Order: sequence, then C-alpha cells, then structure tokens
Amino acid sequence: MGFEKFGLVSYVSQTRVSGFIDYLQAGKMCGTKCLKCGYVEFPPRAFCRRCLSDKWEWVPLCGTCKLITFTRIEAAPAAFKEEAPYILGLAQFSEGPRVLAWVDRAIPESSLKAGVSLRLKPFKLKDEHFAYALTTEDST
Ligand SMILES: [Zn+2]
Repeated sequence: MGFEKFGLVSYVSQTRVSGFIDYLQAGKMCGTKCLKCGYVEFPPRAFCRRCLSDKWEWVPLCGTCKLITFTRIEAAPAAFKEEAPYILGLAQFSEGPRVLAWVDRAIPESSLKAGVSLRLKPFKLKDEHFAYALTTEDST
C-alpha cells in the first residue's frame, strides 16, 4: 500500500514515509523522530526540518492536542469544493509537533477556542482512503 491512499488528493504514491498509511488504517497516530537531533515531526517527514538528517524512526503519538487557532474555509480549493464549508484547526500534540487538520464537523464552531483539548484521530474516507481530523477527547 502506498501513499496514494492518503486524503482526498495525494501527489505521490510512494515515499519513505508510506508506512504512515498503514498506521492510520490501524487506527494509530505516528510521527517521525530524528535519530540525530530528536526532533519529532507530524505528519511524518523523510528529512528532519531542523537538521536535514535522513535518519529517523517511527514514534507513536497519543493524539492529545491543544487547539492553537482555527479558521473556517468557505472558498475551498477545487479538490475540496464538495467539503466546504469546513474548519481547519492548528493544534499542538502533547509530544510537541504541531498539526494542521480538519476539525470534526460534530464539534460546534462556537465551542472552539485556543487551548481547548482535542484528539487527533484517523478516519476512513471513501474508496479506502485515510485521513485524520481533530475531534473531541471522548469521541470514539
Ligand atoms: Zn534532526
């Protein structure tokens, strides 16, 4: 299985981090940890943004996040036109990395504010594709 099963639009089918899709399919959130400097990335990256090393390992993330900010998308890019309007949230994992992700439509926009605890969870799209979204801590 390759990276073509990520999200609504994938630009590559094979990368050094294609195993990420297997983790999402298994319901797990994993990032990459640089073996040279220890920097943790999410989504996974084949090269460390801090020191550019290509040596890394998978690291499980608990999914617990704090919302930093969010925005409502009304005018979406063509590939996401049918999804609009939707909310994108910027959140920080308790392990450190920041993530930009869809916010679960079940969460009322009025309850979103900086500092709210959320959980990043994988979910299945149509056609066996997978993605992740910020949802409430207690949702299953
Ligand atoms: Zn590094």
